[in-house]
Amino acid sequence: MKVPLLDLQAQNGPLESELKDAFERVLKSGRYILGPEVESLEAKVATMADAKHGIGVSSGTDALILALMALEIGPGDEVICPTFTFFATAGSISRLGATPVFVDSCPKCFNINVDSVARAITSKTKAVIPVHLFGQSAEMDGIIELASNHGLKIIEDGAQALGAKYKGRPVGGIGDFGTFSFFPSKNLGGFGDGGMVVTSDDGLAERARILRAHGSSPKYFHKYVGGNFRLDPLQAALLSVKLPHYDEYTKQRQANAEKYTSLFLEMDGFSRIDSCADCVASAEGNKEGDRGDSGIVLPATIAHCGHIWNQYTIQVKGGQRDALREHLASAGIGSEIYYPRTMDRQECFSSVDKRVGLPVAHKLSEEVLSLPIFPGLTSEQQETVVHEVSQFING
Ligand SMILES: *Cc1c(COP(=O)(O)O)cnc(C)c1O
Repeated sequence: MKVPLLDLQAQNGPLESELKDAFERVLKSGRYILGPEVESLEAKVATMADAKHGIGVSSGTDALILALMALEIGPGDEVICPTFTFFATAGSISRLGATPVFVDSCPKCFNINVDSVARAITSKTKAVIPVHLFGQSAEMDGIIELASNHGLKIIEDGAQALGAKYKGRPVGGIGDFGTFSFFPSKNLGGFGDGGMVVTSDDGLAERARILRAHGSSPKYFHKYVGGNFRLDPLQAALLSVKLPHYDEYTKQRQANAEKYTSLFLEMDGFSRIDSCADCVASAEGNKEGDRGDSGIVLPATIAHCGHIWNQYTIQVKGGQRDALREHLASAGIGSEIYYPRTMDRQECFSSVDKRVGLPVAHKLSEEVLSLPIFPGLTSEQQETVVHEVSQFING
């Protein structure tokens, strides 16, 4: 049985007639830039993030760029971000002429390590970008404390985590800015690129809105040098069709994750972590960041970090990750390595100063593997994945 990593048709197919209606609505409205469709989605996503303002943008990457621009971050400034993340987190900092400062990850939940952030702060540090990786909130309390002690702004990269809650608070609405992506593989996947910036600060929201459209206010009078970062009304209208189903998608992802974990734990060779103090403690003290040299470590589910499972990411010990991936591929099962190379080791960042040790992140890039978790994955498909993984591990 074939099991794709992601099956978008399974999710979007049942909505076909509603999606066509939304397209027709936009077609007939004659309004193809911003307007009510975008505003309606902005209000809904802001509410989901418990933020006052939503600003629809062209992608999750542009959401980060716009947030950094609104905070007036530029040359000479440093912005701290995890080295184990998608490129856009770091790339957006560089695009503004600022310097990304890479920090290590927690060996258990894979999110940003607070001790590593503390050691990376200098007088040039202006902001920190915690990433809610794979759909689970980063440990925000420690980040908030550091930010307030050092006068740093917080941009939450929530591209993978719309609706995840940290200690009951939705992510994105906790920092000065939160950013989301509607890239098709994200939990609220669109029909092309799209994103959203959220904030509860009226001044920052206004500045971000102006910067989103060439920095002009009013039209043709340019207060700032902005760009064109607008979300299309067509995209907003199509996303609005999917939004009422979002809770259901999340529940299915959570049920799939629980099922994987309970099936794997019935077999030898699998272990799991449930609590996580290592987000805060020194990661370097925990050099390997590992729990043994063989077998598979299942993803940590930290109760107060509200996982919404954009990815179900296992850690394959003993240098077996790539062989497992090949084994799965030959059985027709899709998997992906998020991410095979940390930011500090990217060619484009070779001249960026490496300030703190990054042993955990380096290890993760060699050991992680994400399995199919999309809503609509059938029981049979999941059992096939479990069977093939355990076959590989236990022979
Ligand atoms: C996907 C993603 C982005 C970028 O979003 P795009 O919409 O693809 O530009 C940024 N950060 C993280 C962590 C992501 O996963």
